[in-house]
Amino acid sequence: MWRATILTLYPELFPGPLDASVLGRGRAEGHWALDTVNIRDFSDNKYGSVDDTPAGGGAGLVMRADILAKAIDSVPRDDRPIVCLTPRGRPFTQTRAHEIASGPGLIALCGRFEGIDERIFAAREVEEVSIGDFVLAGGEIAAMAMIEACVRLIPGVLGSASSLGEESFEGGLLEYPQYTRPREFEGRAIPDVLTSGDHQKIAEWRREEAEKTTRTRRPDLWERFLSNGPIRRGKNKEPKR
Ligand code: SAH
Repeated sequence: MWRATILTLYPELFPGPLDASVLGRGRAEGHWALDTVNIRDFSDNKYGSVDDTPAGGGAGLVMRADILAKAIDSVPRDDRPIVCLTPRGRPFTQTRAHEIASGPGLIALCGRFEGIDERIFAAREVEEVSIGDFVLAGGEIAAMAMIEACVRLIPGVLGSASSLGEESFEGGLLEYPQYTRPREFEGRAIPDVLTSGDHQKIAEWRREEAEKTTRTRRPDLWERFLSNGPIRRGKNKEPKR
């Protein structure tokens, strides 16, 4: 079973939002599992401290590599990637979510304070991952975001698998805009084409909107989309590991 193990100073934060809705049901039904390891249990002193002042001086505290190594070594690896959530990491993407979702699971190390002693990354083959260009107070919410993105891709977790293929990022584009009843809301109508019943026209309109939205909002994605050439539907769905 796909399993996430979280190394954290705040295990009580889990599963938190990961137990709501389809993910919670998926966990109850045995599609995935979650456990936590309290890093503080591996402290070597009576105060339970896991950090120390930064070498070279400066503000704050840094989590110690020796204590983190003991915490990591207590977890059965089971061929799972070990990731550390950090703003210095490689940006997390839908492609990486697919790769991790199709594997055996994930071991996630959550930082706090100023961050983590650099030596742990090479010492335990830790992949550094960022969820965006902003700074959180800790890695827990970042780990939850990453786990949620992966778990919803596990077969059986979302009700209708067909909704996955057309989503933002799946074909290299952002999704087209969505509407539902009422047909008119505060003087704004649903675009006529969507109520025309003409499936061909609807597909064309959605495609154009997806391209326009990507081009104007995310020129970086649009450039990559163009340089990848025309994408067959579903081609980017499940990259092979
Ligand atoms: N001093 C660090 C930031 C520490 S923030 C720096 O400037 O790079 C404390 C912890 O929050 C980090 O160790 C990390 O685990 C988490 N965190 C903060 N921002 C994050 C982000 N964008 N993505 C993933 N984790 C993040």
